[in-house]
Amino acid sequence: MVLSELAIRLNCTEYKNWVKAGHCLLLLRSCLQGFVGQEVLSFHRSLLAATPSLGPRATCRGGSRCSPRARQFQPQCEVCAEWKREILKHHVNRNGDVHWGNCRPGLWPVDAWEVAKAFMPRGLTGKKGPEECDAVALLSLINSCDHFVVDRKRVTEVIRCRNEIMHSSDMKVSSTWLQDFQVKIQNFLSEFKTIPEIVAANSRIEQLLLSDWAVYLPEGDQLDGCECAEGTYMSISQVNEIEVELLKEKLQELYMQAEEPDVSPQEISDRLAAMKEFLRNNEDLRNGLLEDMQKLDSLHLQHQKPEAEEPGEEPPASATEGCPPAKIRRVP
Ligand SMILES: [Zn+2]
Repeated sequence: MVLSELAIRLNCTEYKNWVKAGHCLLLLRSCLQGFVGQEVLSFHRSLLAATPSLGPRATCRGGSRCSPRARQFQPQCEVCAEWKREILKHHVNRNGDVHWGNCRPGLWPVDAWEVAKAFMPRGLTGKKGPEECDAVALLSLINSCDHFVVDRKRVTEVIRCRNEIMHSSDMKVSSTWLQDFQVKIQNFLSEFKTIPEIVAANSRIEQLLLSDWAVYLPEGDQLDGCECAEGTYMSISQVNEIEVELLKEKLQELYMQAEEPDVSPQEISDRLAAMKEFLRNNEDLRNGLLEDMQKLDSLHLQHQKPEAEEPGEEPPASATEGCPPAKIRRVP
């Protein structure tokens, strides 16, 4: 592996900001999982207590006819119809998009998580619990379900930041953006002062955003870690793990966008090309994403304009452009 490339990438301030912001999202996700899981169970219990006919003895009689598709769901039995009405009663976005396709309605009487997914963005059909969900899925649930009593503006601001992180085509954010993100994520987390794991994550995030790291390229090219300002230390492999996880989420998002009719094929093609170029320039990351590389290639082919060049020959994107000159400090 070319160590200098790695050092250039990890020492680029704006890329580093992007990784830090993404790291915050991962911390946010893990601190919300337990809390959300508990709350979903209590929401389900409260629904059954208020309307016993929704309970475990209620059975869907519609079979495969009670199958939602994307935003469409026409229940074919009384149980599913009652559940649908009940879910909409608690949905703050009841007149807008509800992604019924996430749910298996036959399980609503017995599986709280199947109910929760009606409050989430699309693409979560196979997810069986909060531990399989990313931050935006959990935030959307908190935002859309009236069981959660929070300042919704604080939730939507974090969702907006998350989308900016995931849609950034060059995987860079400015330091001003990062400061603003810190305010927004901490405003949101301060809504949960009584949940110990969320309070702990809040201070972890603060520490993370205050810290800085520099990648050293010591004599003999033994690159072994990132030293952070106040003495905390992250190994290269820890940083790498975070990068790969973020890139995977970004790729998932890209695949979903590629199916959306409202994003132009040209835009998708550009985003796919930028991602391919970034991975081409960063071999160490590519190795963790081999399957995705193939998927990217075939999607890119599908989305290319007929007059476009052969895949693999598009002009270099901005993977490292715009970075301040890399400061690779050699350890004496
Ligand atoms: Zn049914």
